This record gives sequence, C-alpha cells and structure tokens, in this order.
Amino acid sequence: MNYVILAILIMTIIFKLGGVILQHMHSFRLRMMYESYLSLNTMGIIGMILFFNFFMDFDTIYPWIFLAVYALYTLIIATSYIYKVHVLSLEDLEPNLWLTLMDGIFLCFFLYFSKQYFGVLSHLFYIYLVLISILFSQKKSLYFSSFVSLCYVVLVTLLDVKDLFSFNAVINILLIFLLGYVLSSLITEINKLESRMGYICEDLENKNLLLNEMICKDFLTNLYNHKTFYLYYKQFIQRSCDHKESFSVAMLDIDNFKKVNDTYGHLAGDLILREVSSLILANIQQNDIAARYGGEEFAIIFPDPIPKKSIETCEKIRTAIETHPFDVDGQVIKVTISGGVAGGIFKKPHHKQSKLLEFVDQLMYKAKMAGKNKILFSQELLVISD
Ligand code: GH3
Ligand code: MG
Ligand code: MG
Repeated sequence: MNYVILAILIMTIIFKLGGVILQHMHSFRLRMMYESYLSLNTMGIIGMILFFNFFMDFDTIYPWIFLAVYALYTLIIATSYIYKVHVLSLEDLEPNLWLTLMDGIFLCFFLYFSKQYFGVLSHLFYIYLVLISILFSQKKSLYFSSFVSLCYVVLVTLLDVKDLFSFNAVINILLIFLLGYVLSSLITEINKLESRMGYICEDLENKNLLLNEMICKDFLTNLYNHKTFYLYYKQFIQRSCDHKESFSVAMLDIDNFKKVNDTYGHLAGDLILREVSSLILANIQQNDIAARYGGEEFAIIFPDPIPKKSIETCEKIRTAIETHPFDVDGQVIKVTISGGVAGGIFKKPHHKQSKLLEFVDQLMYKAKMAGKNKILFSQELLVISD
C-alpha cells in the first residue's frame, strides 16, 4: 500500500510543479486560474493522502480506492487540458463546469471517509465554493451555493440524519448561501471594473497611436515630418557605421511652386502637395523613408546600399509627377520636380552628419540651374570620414 501512496505522491508533486510552470507561460487570465485550480486539485490529493495516512485508521480498502480514482481522474483531466492548450494550442479552452462539479462530489466522498473530523473538514466546502465561483464568474454564484448546500445536506444525511436539523447544520447552510451572495456581488463588481479597465486600455492605446502619428507625421501630406526624418537619418548613419554599409538620400523640390500658388491659390497648392506626396509614396519601397522636409521640398532615405536603385526610383517619381494630370477646379495642370540623389557611407557616427544632405542639396540646386524637371545623381559613393 505504501508503494501506491508513494507513486501517487510523486505523480501529484510532478503535476503540481507542471501546473506552477504552466501558470507562468500564459498570461490569459482564465487559463491561469484554471491551471491554478488543477494544481490545487493535485495539492488536495497530496493533502488527502497525508491525512488518511496519519490521522485515519481504515479497516477497508475503499478510501484508498477512492483516492486512486480521484488521482487518476485529476491526472486525465489535467493531461487532456495540457495537451489541448499547450500541445495543440487550442485557443480559449474554457474550464469545464461539469467536471468541476465532479470535484464537489469527490470532496463529499473524502468527507464521508473522514467522518470523525467532519465538523472541521466541512469548512472545505467554503473553499470549494469560492474557487468555483471565481472560476465560473460569469455564472450566478447562487447555483453554486445551491449545489454546495445540496452536497452538504446529502453528506449530513448519510452520516447522521438527526444532525440535519441541528443548529450547526442550519447555520452552515445559511453561511454557504451568504458566502455565495457576497461572492457574486464582489465578482460582478470585479467583472465590471475589468471590462471598464479593458475599455480604458484600448482607448489609451488608440490615443497613443494617434498621438504618435501626430508627432511623427506631417499633417498635410501624411509623410514623415522634418524631425522624424532627422531621427531616421541619424539611425541610418549609425547603421552605416556599424555594418559598414551605404545608404542613399534624395532631395526633391516642386518646380515653380510659388507660381502655382499665385495662379491657382494656396488651397490648390495644398492639393498638389498632397497628390505629389501620394505619388512619392506609391513609387517607393516599404522600407524607404519619405518625409516632407519643408514647404514644397521632400527628402527620401533609401536603405538599399546600391545607389542605382534609388536613382531609378527618383526618376520613376519624377516621371510619375510629370505625367500626372493634376486637376485644379476642373483644369488640368502640369507639375514637375527637380532633385538630387546620392549614396553615402559614414565611417564614424560623429563625423559631419549633414555632409551627405548638403551634397544632395547641391545636386538639386544644379538640377534647378540646368533647367528643372531633372534628377541629378552621383554614381560614386560619398565617403564621410572627417
Ligand atoms: P523653384 O522651382 O526654384 O523651387 O521655385 P519655387 O517657386 O518652387 O520655390 P520658392 O522657394 O520660390 O517658393 C516655394 C513656395 O512654396 C512658396 C510657398 O508659398 C509655397 N509653399 C510652401 N509651403 C506650402 C504649403 O504648405 N502650402 C502651399 N500651398 N504652399 C506652400
Ligand atoms: Mg520649389
Ligand atoms: Mg523650395
């Protein structure tokens, strides 16, 4: 018999440890609670084994058979739960109400076998009531109070029917109902608070996203703003130093934009700025960083170390803008851009950071001087080492 006890003991300790580890693996609240519950079950089995061994002196084998059945039942439930949730990764596997009610019946058996200590041990019903109420918080605690009272009544009847109308029994049943009522009010409040907290967190997350968007992006064009451009620019310089890799930068400027504003008004100018930005976005890659550098000037960072690709992209943007029919109050107007593009490699992050930008700006200036609607580029990498 001692070997059986030892085997069950080892099994339950292993399972208890498993339960504790699993609790930390998943943040999902309901899962965590159910896993704690299963762990408590196994701890309960250990408690029962110790109790039967040291406090009871049975002359039948039935209590031990009961314990073995209960341990096996818990093992099957827990293994199937672990298999479904942690091996098959089934989502939202909720605890099973009927199986949890079975625990109440097992508890009755335990109390029946330890009848000499029924007065003290019957308080386990309170713990059981609290646990199932928390676990199935969305259901009414009144049902659980009724179930636990029924278990209690059946047990008292089996042990000694005369006790059923004793002061002790009546008070116990009343207390079970009172506890159920208090619990249900508390859990309802907690649930309300939890859903409110969930709403507040979601709202906060959305507002944070919006705020981030407002801080990083330019309101009119929805491209990155000047400040964010520089943050990225510095990151790329660091990356270039760390990985000894080049990146390219382009500066683009709308030609004769003042004239557009003067002829068609500032609102039409804004519309063109937006459309030009959309055309830029439509022609760059996902990892390229396009920003409104200021006024009608745009800057783009190309992470690709091959400058040829960035030159091609800028040429594509220029052609797309040149051929795009900009509609201003039903009148189609032509817009062009000029720009410069070059690749650079930085040796040290503190080396003159603006050098690449200045170089590209010069190219753009030359494009303007050369008659506009042009992209000038440098085939050679600019090595910044001072
Ligand atoms: P260039 O070909 O040499 O670049 O000539 P340009 O007229 O484009 O350049 P200039 O610097 O003389 O004028 C830029 C104009 O861009 C002046 C300014 O009113 C206009 N601008 C700057 N920001 C905005 C804006 O947000 N909306 C509108 N509608 N116009 C803007
Ligand atoms: Mg301009
Ligand atoms: Mg300008």
